[in-house]
Amino acid sequence: MELEEQMLKAEKAEEAKLEIEADKTLEVEMAPIELKSAGYVIIYDTRTHEPSVCSRNALRHNLQKTRPDGSIVFTTVKPKQKPKRGTLKCMLHPESPDRPHYDELGLPDCRKANLTSPYQVIRHMQKRHKVEYATIKEEETRLEKEQERKLRESLIKMGNKETIPLYRKESRAEK
Ligand SMILES: [Zn+2]
Repeated sequence: MELEEQMLKAEKAEEAKLEIEADKTLEVEMAPIELKSAGYVIIYDTRTHEPSVCSRNALRHNLQKTRPDGSIVFTTVKPKQKPKRGTLKCMLHPESPDRPHYDELGLPDCRKANLTSPYQVIRHMQKRHKVEYATIKEEETRLEKEQERKLRESLIKMGNKETIPLYRKESRAEK
């Protein structure tokens, strides 16, 4: 379908029931009423079929986006397939279990939360957070080594100590 035609046929956001979450990657988080006034439309990811909200102003730009393999990223044509809903969060997501640790390392937040597989999480990390991902991996290696070292040390210590019996029979004076 031609770009112009697609733009004309773009489904108005207010018409499509906004049960969908505004795509965090486009950083559009608005109430439906705001969407209505600002002229937003729904676009769909051609691979995941995931809907996103996009402003009319950004529509042309988004429809022209291509992947490295040349395929088009977004379409205004509602796909027949249901979205392959992903629920996996980026490792840098504010709700990530390791977030406190990443805060210590000074790593930025990322709100991406619709990744479809662990593989996609890694891919996302490699593509979007190359430096941060390298830092995380370095840190993991460092911690592993430290744990190994501690374990070795405690084994040596234990070897040097006399074995202390865990339970000691206490002789009780019988009454
Ligand atoms: Zn991310």
